Amino acid sequence: MGIEDVFSLVTYLPIRYIDETIITPIRDIQMGVLSQLEAEVIMADVLYKPKKMLIVQVKDASGSLQLRFLNFYPSQMKMFAVGTHIRVLGEARHNLFAFEMIHPQCKLIRESDVLPEALTPIYSLVAGVGQKTIKDAINKLFHHFDLKNYLKDYFLPSMYEKLHLPNLYDSLKSIHYPKDFKEVANHEAFTSKPYQRIIFDEFLAQQLSLRSNYLMRRALTAMPFKAKNKLTTIFIDKLEFDLTDAQKKVMQEIKNDLEKNHPMQRLLQGDVGSGKTVVATIAALQVIENGSQVAFMAPTEILAEQHYRKLNAWLTPFDIKVAWLTGSQSKKDREISLNMMQSGEAQMVVGTHALFQEHVIFKTLGLSIIDEQHRFGVEQRLALRKKGELNKVIEPHQLMMSATPIPRTLSMSYFADLDVSVIDELPKGREAIVTKLFSEDRRDEILKRVHEVCHAGAQVYWVCPLIEESEVLQLQTAEETYINMQSHFKDLRVGLVHGRMKSSEKQKVMADFVKGDIQLLVATTVIEVGVDVSNATLMVIENAERMGLSQLHQLRGRVGRGLLKSTCILLFQKKLSQIARQRLKVIFENTDGFIIAQEDLNIRGPGEFLGIRQSGAPMLRIANLNRDFKLLEEAKTIADQLLEDYPEASHLHLKRWLGLANERVKV
Ligand code: ADP
Ligand code: MG
Repeated sequence: MGIEDVFSLVTYLPIRYIDETIITPIRDIQMGVLSQLEAEVIMADVLYKPKKMLIVQVKDASGSLQLRFLNFYPSQMKMFAVGTHIRVLGEARHNLFAFEMIHPQCKLIRESDVLPEALTPIYSLVAGVGQKTIKDAINKLFHHFDLKNYLKDYFLPSMYEKLHLPNLYDSLKSIHYPKDFKEVANHEAFTSKPYQRIIFDEFLAQQLSLRSNYLMRRALTAMPFKAKNKLTTIFIDKLEFDLTDAQKKVMQEIKNDLEKNHPMQRLLQGDVGSGKTVVATIAALQVIENGSQVAFMAPTEILAEQHYRKLNAWLTPFDIKVAWLTGSQSKKDREISLNMMQSGEAQMVVGTHALFQEHVIFKTLGLSIIDEQHRFGVEQRLALRKKGELNKVIEPHQLMMSATPIPRTLSMSYFADLDVSVIDELPKGREAIVTKLFSEDRRDEILKRVHEVCHAGAQVYWVCPLIEESEVLQLQTAEETYINMQSHFKDLRVGLVHGRMKSSEKQKVMADFVKGDIQLLVATTVIEVGVDVSNATLMVIENAERMGLSQLHQLRGRVGRGLLKSTCILLFQKKLSQIARQRLKVIFENTDGFIIAQEDLNIRGPGEFLGIRQSGAPMLRIANLNRDFKLLEEAKTIADQLLEDYPEASHLHLKRWLGLANERVKV
């Protein structure tokens, strides 16, 4: 249940409350309302028809009621001996024959029993843990443990007073044992002061954790790279297009960062096709013109290869040597690359996570650029930062790129440890991609369309989600599709690329597609990120209903990359689940990645959206980004100042809330 210490137990909050403070006479019981009564057993009988059940009749001064149990133990029978007084809690209803409660909670009334004074909290449970276990455990904290001292506020009372928030102990006490239904209603809406206090504290812990990481890294030393505007200016002049205003803006932000003598820690976000790679290349040139090296990393070999080709073509005219490093290279090629990196002969190296490995040594690494940063694990990103530590004092600058736009609430919270730049504009002249939804039974029409597009000289992606037969999911395999396509389109050159292929094969196929030698490329989602073929104008995505929103958006971004009008056809199986229908509607109606991301976040929540295992960010258990946005803003406003003025208290606060989890975010 995620409960591992006193704090996580006492912040395990009720999901609702029930009223056991009053006894209702049987006559006054309302249908469907949870009520408590005290009554005397007048009859108990086990019936066997229509099936085994226990029927108990009880009465009080005002009337009588039937209790019915379908599951019961012989031991329970004792409680129902005629004449026994019991307390019963349940919802009454009428059936054809009787006024009854099914499976109410019952207990014997003892002399010493008094009614509780507060409402009873109800907690969510997991198999094997009963309501009573949790209730008792939390009760013990409040009555047999110095909880007041344990929960003492670390920050000055004046801070919370300014925010009109009560102290932590009182807040938790009120949430576990609210006095009345008015208080409960506010708790259940998360608007009560006690709840606001807890939520604020949780946000504050997250901010303190992320900001302290940020400030720690900011205190490190990096090589400052003064913009000489030599290579960079020539490069920009030579580009066959003008940079967008948004590109210029983020370029300036990065340029300023690189001139500082502490490491840049910047996240560059922009929708697919917004032109992040050019911006990253300009940053690289600023470092290279100062005599340092740049590492450029991509999550897949296909993407790394493509960056390599592009950067090679862009940079060779400047006499800049670009090396290439992946796990699948021959030993000899690898040695050559490694030597060029170590000697400094290569000013730039492009590769996959092979760049993270131990024996990869740079002469002087000034900047690492990480494309599609969310695809790399925390450890890998950490490992690359360590690369700069060869001489133990200098850290490389770091530029991370993300093609999954991040909604503002998320970047304010989970990305508070990074500076964020946003390219919020696409290059001019791009034709909007037309998205169409087709159900499976209209496959023939689509095949005809594919044929037309290829014959007009353009190219087509055909995306299948899985490559292996899976009866459960009934997804078609890419291999099968490939064979079918080949026999269907005898006059087209069809290719296949999927994740299980050897990387040399993969590269060959992609190169053939880029050259136009392959007209129809059957692919798994390995092409999801970054592949750039502007002559591809049609994409068909099979079983689109099974894919996530950001994945669909990324895939769709593979077409519409040139001046030609492009179409994305989403093929779906009939019988859509509610959530699949919702996703397809969003992707059909929207092309703006930020809107899609916001919808995705709303549907999936931040944990799933970020792939939290990877991001390593401390999760929020109680606070909700959309609902509690104002409190997030308040926590964010004061976090840096608290870290500076009250480092000790800040540390205690984030340790209280994050415990061990905090250790995982030091990236
Ligand atoms: P992404 O942000 O998805 O990584 P890329 O950097 O791959 O985008 O750019 C997509 C395509 O647009 C590339 O072919 C790139 O050369 C081109 N491009 C980048 N910036 C501009 C611009 N300002 N005007 C026109 N085309 C551009
Ligand atoms: Mg890209």
